[in-house]
Amino acid sequence: MTPVKVDLKNLSPDALVEFLAGMGKEKFRAGQIMRWIYQRGVTDFAEMTDLAKTFRDELGERSYVSKFTPAAVEVSADGTRKFLFRLDDGKSIETVLIPMEGERNTLCISTQVGCAMQCSFCLTGSYGLERNLTAAEIVNQVCAVREAHAVDNIVLMGMGEPLHNLDNVVDALHILYASTGFDYGPRKVTLSTSGLVPEMCELGRRIKVNLAVSLNATTDDVRNELMPVNRRYPIKALMEACRTFPLAPRQRITFEYILIQGVNDSQADARRLVKLLHGIKAKVNLIPFNEHAGSEYRKPTDAAMRAFQTYLLDRQIVAVRRAGKGQDISAACGQLKGKLEKTL
Ligand code: SAH
Ligand code: SF4
Repeated sequence: MTPVKVDLKNLSPDALVEFLAGMGKEKFRAGQIMRWIYQRGVTDFAEMTDLAKTFRDELGERSYVSKFTPAAVEVSADGTRKFLFRLDDGKSIETVLIPMEGERNTLCISTQVGCAMQCSFCLTGSYGLERNLTAAEIVNQVCAVREAHAVDNIVLMGMGEPLHNLDNVVDALHILYASTGFDYGPRKVTLSTSGLVPEMCELGRRIKVNLAVSLNATTDDVRNELMPVNRRYPIKALMEACRTFPLAPRQRITFEYILIQGVNDSQADARRLVKLLHGIKAKVNLIPFNEHAGSEYRKPTDAAMRAFQTYLLDRQIVAVRRAGKGQDISAACGQLKGKLEKTL
């Protein structure tokens, strides 16, 4: 029986050290191999010329290095690029590169195929969960895009609920952070969650990362309607978890708030939001609901959006209005998967 080969991109730096120890190899070999894989994009052991030939052969017998090539790329008028990747089992995921002000590029990556959380406003949610991505599949989105573009920041805000796939997400973050990997500082990476409270606490214990919370409502009634996860972890429990989440000095939690006309965009909502955020180091991202065929919800008026923002700003809460980027290629968050898939 031939043993199943290990994809080295599935191994966190520590796991790689352990894997190599099993072959009788020294710890520093892990760093050497990681540099080849992540910093030089090499997938063929034959090219890893600072390793002995016998070692390379042995590696090839036990392992391999996977790689993504985009099946399609769409470029939006505003410069947003959407990459479609086909996975080994035929499923597909999307990754979006968003050029930000000051020429910083933010890459939005997926953590699952589909999502189990069923938020009523989200197109991804309507597909249900197909499966978790492996650590390799999470990291490969970054590897593939970095071959052609600078990536300054990374957000785990594509398809899926990252905290539903915590182990693989944490392994992937360790690879992104490793000095022999991509060497991103934890402040360059943001994980967004719909609010799985126990996993948020677990995340805080396990690794450093910026936290974004998709709040989207200020009463349990409305949040239950928008985000079924709220029935398990209501707003009070969620805010309590935010209060105890470990933050570095000057670090804040980002609260994402999609404004939906007549649902959560009133001045009363703004007032309740200020109360909820009391005592939390927070900043708020206000996002206009992105209309799509699968939903009756409507985007807010510009006036409502501005009034909401002004209410927060007047009370010393940092609040930014986010223009939905890449709308012409349906690359806006929550619109991933769909259009391209049907045409391929
Ligand atoms: N599952 C995590 C990770 C990102 S989900 C979470 O919910 O936080 C995808 C992101 O797209 C979320 O920030 C969500 O609020 C946003 N989104 C989903 N549907 C949207 C829509 N129709 N308009 C605007 N934003 C949307
Ligand atoms: Fe899942 Fe996030 Fe969409 Fe909710 S908003 S269904 S958690 S991807």
